[in-house]
Amino acid sequence: MTPPPIVRTVAALRQQVAAWRATGERIAMVPTMGALHEGHLSLVKLGLERADRVVASIFVNPAQFAPHEDFDAYPRGEGRDADLLGQAGCALIFAPDVAAMYPQGFATRVAVDGVSVPLEGEKRPQVFGGVATVVCKLLNQCRPDVALFGEKDYQQLLVIKRMALDLDLGVEIVGGPTVREADGLAMSSRNAYLSEAERRVAALLPAVLSDAVSRLRQGHAAEAVEVEAVARLEAAGFGPVDYIQAHDGETMRRLGPGPTPEGARLFAAAWLGKTRLIDNWAV
Ligand code: AMP
Repeated sequence: MTPPPIVRTVAALRQQVAAWRATGERIAMVPTMGALHEGHLSLVKLGLERADRVVASIFVNPAQFAPHEDFDAYPRGEGRDADLLGQAGCALIFAPDVAAMYPQGFATRVAVDGVSVPLEGEKRPQVFGGVATVVCKLLNQCRPDVALFGEKDYQQLLVIKRMALDLDLGVEIVGGPTVREADGLAMSSRNAYLSEAERRVAALLPAVLSDAVSRLRQGHAAEAVEVEAVARLEAAGFGPVDYIQAHDGETMRRLGPGPTPEGARLFAAAWLGKTRLIDNWAV
């Protein structure tokens, strides 16, 4: 299949979307930072179940990286991404450059409170403001009927749902399940940073989380389960472990002592060498 056309301006994006709308078609959007894998492509396929046309955006968003983070090193490869998107049935790629998204004088930032506060919000304070701002822009630029985001970044999905509701964006936000490698590691563009030896160790993250989730389901106290899971990861060579914590899967409130209630999720972020891995499992 030939790769879909790539547009780089909001005007060109809107022109194509308007042409589809004029014939009564529904539009889905899948925002990405590129370096695509089966996780991203699963969202394109989900989009095709809910709309006639899927627009994917590729934009490595500087606003969500802190100065010491991996913005420059983040993997990029537009040609390969376009081929994969074409094979998945994507109809259009929106790939603006940084100056088009953040022109001189840009001064607005979308701040979502509540669900953004713990975990990633604590460890990477710049991340959700940057994500909310760019996703708000992308949704306004494209004005899709539905937009798809991965449960791999579960807290981000909640932040975007909250923003879409609070700001009356008029877009349905849909989450897609985490796509994993054969050994359970959640697919991520950043997995490319792992050495061969680290890649083998990385599979321990989902294994430890899945064990911890079983213990939570059996009624073990969350705190003890979390401490034990951190210790197992550290013993295997992870470090630091930023967090392993069970939170409510809707409000992101930290669970209190006692049996884990329904709707809880176990969240993890841990460093393996220079790579930061995140994952989460429904309890
Ligand atoms: P990113 O390019 O990492 O910003 O991710 C773009 C979208 O793909 C986000 O909605 C992610 O949550 C989603 N995504 C990333 N990895 C996965 C995965 N392994 N499974 C499902 N969705 C994913």
